[in-house]
Amino acid sequence: MENKTIIQFFEWYLPSDGTLWEKAEACAADLKNTGITSVWLPPAYKGAAGVSSVGYDVYDLYDLGEFDQKGSVRTKYGTLDQYLAAVRALHAAGLEVYADIVFNQMMGADETEKIMAVDTRPTDREEQISGPHEIEAWTKFTFPGRGGKYSDHTWDKNNFSGTDFDQSTGAKGIFLFDGKRWNQETDSENVNFDYLMGVDLDTDEPDTYKALTDWGSWYFDTVHPDGLRLDAVKHMSFDFYRRWLRFMREREGRDFFAVGEYWSGDLKKLLHYLDVVVDGMPERTLPPRPQKSSGGCWQKADESAPGTDQPDHSAQTQAGVIVPDSDEPIQPVADGTPLTLFDVPLHYSFLRAAQNGQNFDMRSLFTDTLVEARPECAVTFIDNHDTEPGQALESYIPEWFKPIAYSMILLRESGIPCVFYGDYYGVESANESPILDLKKLIRIRSRYAYGPQTDYFDDHSVVGFTRNGDAEHPDSGLAVLATAGAEGTKYMKLGPAFAGKNLRDALGRHNDPVRLDEQGGGVFHVHGGYLSVWLTEPAYNDIRIHF
Ligand code: CA
Repeated sequence: MENKTIIQFFEWYLPSDGTLWEKAEACAADLKNTGITSVWLPPAYKGAAGVSSVGYDVYDLYDLGEFDQKGSVRTKYGTLDQYLAAVRALHAAGLEVYADIVFNQMMGADETEKIMAVDTRPTDREEQISGPHEIEAWTKFTFPGRGGKYSDHTWDKNNFSGTDFDQSTGAKGIFLFDGKRWNQETDSENVNFDYLMGVDLDTDEPDTYKALTDWGSWYFDTVHPDGLRLDAVKHMSFDFYRRWLRFMREREGRDFFAVGEYWSGDLKKLLHYLDVVVDGMPERTLPPRPQKSSGGCWQKADESAPGTDQPDHSAQTQAGVIVPDSDEPIQPVADGTPLTLFDVPLHYSFLRAAQNGQNFDMRSLFTDTLVEARPECAVTFIDNHDTEPGQALESYIPEWFKPIAYSMILLRESGIPCVFYGDYYGVESANESPILDLKKLIRIRSRYAYGPQTDYFDDHSVVGFTRNGDAEHPDSGLAVLATAGAEGTKYMKLGPAFAGKNLRDALGRHNDPVRLDEQGGGVFHVHGGYLSVWLTEPAYNDIRIHF
């Protein structure tokens, strides 16, 4: 089987010229030839910002560039027909297509509604810092430009639990709608990180959940994606995707691939989320909803009337709710569903290595990362649209280190790597070129990075690993040596099957081959601040011919 390699086929600063779907169609064969197996396309639905929307300010999930809404028919990336043509072309080239699913928030409502709400403290969302008062919120989505095609569902305040803007006064805050509570199993930053932006979907509301399964059914029937990327999962009830993914997979009759974006460098949080979704958890019973207030009488959350049990943040409650910072073991039940998460801790480890250079201890590169702790659940990556300069999660890996980082996700056994568009094609708006040697590394992954791995993470600065190859992939097997510091050498072995063979540096920094001894071992060299990738002669020639 071929190694799986995902490409994130967009970056934040693409021009809003409606050409990305056409580019995906045009590039399908090149991606396949390079060694990409799966293409993550950006959110395809109309956003509040119209043609400027990257896709996360969801306005109408059913408008994939088909209706004259938010100033245009097309989205930033093109029209519905172009989108479907791109998916067909990618499929025809033998590539998987992963769709980007954004269910946490919506923006750009058609009308406002008057709603009673309380202000919650931005740094402690469970603390109410005002009494109930009326706000005017953008919560009514009627989609007049679509006129009920595909679905006559409209959204109103019942589908949402909060917002950050009061139209009547211009006030900003974190407003919780009266009669609602934040989803209780979310990330614990700000005590409860259910709310992120826009109007926050209340996925505990049956009408909201049904709207999302109805939409998912329509979307799969229309687009036929092979897998999903799930946006902002830490801001949604941890229970939601366990239920929704199970529903969709049963409907599709297959455990399609899914990767969640849980943006945290804290491995424990990622493992907890996976425990909930993958291993399952006890059927949960929601605590009773707070009663709607009757007017000016306001009670703090912890002073509410007897019987309206507030969740206990220290442990598993009688109602079965598990909060993220609980140390109680989860009693798994067999109702979980497979899921992977982006390895955010590894991204930050790469950043530390690049920032500290020769002072970084390369032996710790994988310490407390998801790919080390739970490799089957890790999607490894270097950068994405949110880590680019100027974005909310800015943490861009310096260019010089990226080839080293890519070798650590592309050529090793563990993890499913995701290549960033900006690294593959360059970032035009920033005059950034494609990352040096990246396409070579992808092709080496797809053809030669097979077989058992031996690690040589035994030096502060110069680290390496070998792959022994396997029978299924001719000429497979390799040796990688990398350093964030000064040049160095290391003796590494590929096994007796390689005895007497010559290995050559596929990245072309060394002219002379390394002849392996009877153990299949040899002394490899790497220049300072870079890497060397050593292949058999036929594999080396294949890479030289193609690049
Ligand atoms: Ca939320």
